[in-house]
Amino acid sequence: MKVRTRFAPSPTGLLHIGGARTALFSWLYARKTGGDFILRIEDTDLERSTQASIDAILEAMDWLDLAYDEGPFYQTQRFDRYREVIQQLLDNGQAYRCYCSKEELDALREAQMVRKEKPRYDGRWRDSTATPPAGVQPVIRFKNPLDGVVEFEDLVRGKITIANAELDDLIIARSDGVPTYNLCVVVDDIDMNVTHVIRGDDHINNTPRQINIMRALGAALPKFAHVPMILGNDGQRLSKRHGAVGVMQYRDEGYLPEALLNYLVRLGWSHGDQEVFSRDELIQLFEIENINRAPSSFSPDKLLWLNQHYIKTLPAERIAAELQWHLTQQNLDTSRGPALVDVIEAQRERAKTLVELVAASRYFYEPVNSYDAAAMKKQVSAETPHYLQVVAEHLGALQVWDEAAIHEAITASCEQLQVKLGKVGPALRLATTGGTSSPALDVTLKLLSKDTVLQRINIFIEFVKNSASSA
Ligand code: GLU
Repeated sequence: MKVRTRFAPSPTGLLHIGGARTALFSWLYARKTGGDFILRIEDTDLERSTQASIDAILEAMDWLDLAYDEGPFYQTQRFDRYREVIQQLLDNGQAYRCYCSKEELDALREAQMVRKEKPRYDGRWRDSTATPPAGVQPVIRFKNPLDGVVEFEDLVRGKITIANAELDDLIIARSDGVPTYNLCVVVDDIDMNVTHVIRGDDHINNTPRQINIMRALGAALPKFAHVPMILGNDGQRLSKRHGAVGVMQYRDEGYLPEALLNYLVRLGWSHGDQEVFSRDELIQLFEIENINRAPSSFSPDKLLWLNQHYIKTLPAERIAAELQWHLTQQNLDTSRGPALVDVIEAQRERAKTLVELVAASRYFYEPVNSYDAAAMKKQVSAETPHYLQVVAEHLGALQVWDEAAIHEAITASCEQLQVKLGKVGPALRLATTGGTSSPALDVTLKLLSKDTVLQRINIFIEFVKNSASSA
């Protein structure tokens, strides 16, 4: 049977790290098995669901490149179908109307608490032949089996057994007719032929109830895999306190989706002690059974390490594509100046994030309009204008503008001046980039182009002379 997995977020906020990991696991398993991955938006909670959340989820799925084969399906567009199933359950005697008022239920709960019993509906309308009270809109409850157990083999947790005596008769439609969460999930998982339900273990208590409804409907049961939660490095459930929780915030902070996905997959899944996985490797190696049972904790340092790894190793074209968004955000026009891919090649060893990469690359595309003050003090002396003049002459004479020629011109300048490179290099870097950190000088100058380099040296010489005379 073809594997069909689904990711079923409720659009009540951003797509957070835990959700993204669930989506990734579901996606990976579908890809691995040649199956289908479905996106289903569980938007029946009309008060808490928002279009902004839906958009944020779709944007994040897109950014992470977790393409779905079907969907997005919206539960709010399937109410007719849920009503049909509720009617079917009523007709078959597998569900019933319950006319209890809120006061009655409160009294029931209180009495149970007094007796130190678990609060649960006592089934008083289950087989009742009493005349319904006038004017009360009933809820509809599912007739949960009264005895026996629900047993299933969770692909992560192993065998789980719950006594039916623990489960009460779940409301499947509210008094206003709106179907409830567990009913919708069951109908969808059946109608969408889902074979593997991979989801957060906060849903594990719903599973026995859902299994009972599926059985009542005569449906084949999917397999279940409940993924443990993610903790912050303080052992508490991951939340805003631990930093970014929305996936797109990681994009904003300069992370590559490749790094985030690689990070997420390792958060609770392992293959030996391998840390870095390409997408193809993941698809090959992923096994639900290798998801850890224990919660995993989030480590921002490791994510940063992976990001740096991907910045260093991905094709420059791929990084350039991802960088476009940041260039717009940081207002850097790279249409004139060196090719972006060449700048990426030159800079990638030094940047941990794309935000840093853009910030550190401005001088390739914008004039230098200030110089690092501390470096000015330290690297610039009364001789500097003369030194740089000589360098400019050597550079200006070059017929070929490549790293080797530039390197030779700088070496020849130092020889002519009888000074060490240390007297010339830092000043030259300051003149051409405004700062103290850039790729190797020959690489930097090559990228900047001969005209720009000569122009910047001249401007710098004037600046130094002026500062000296006004000092
Ligand atoms: N809509 C649920 C949530 O966002 C997921 C339900 C499921 O995967 O079965 O937590």
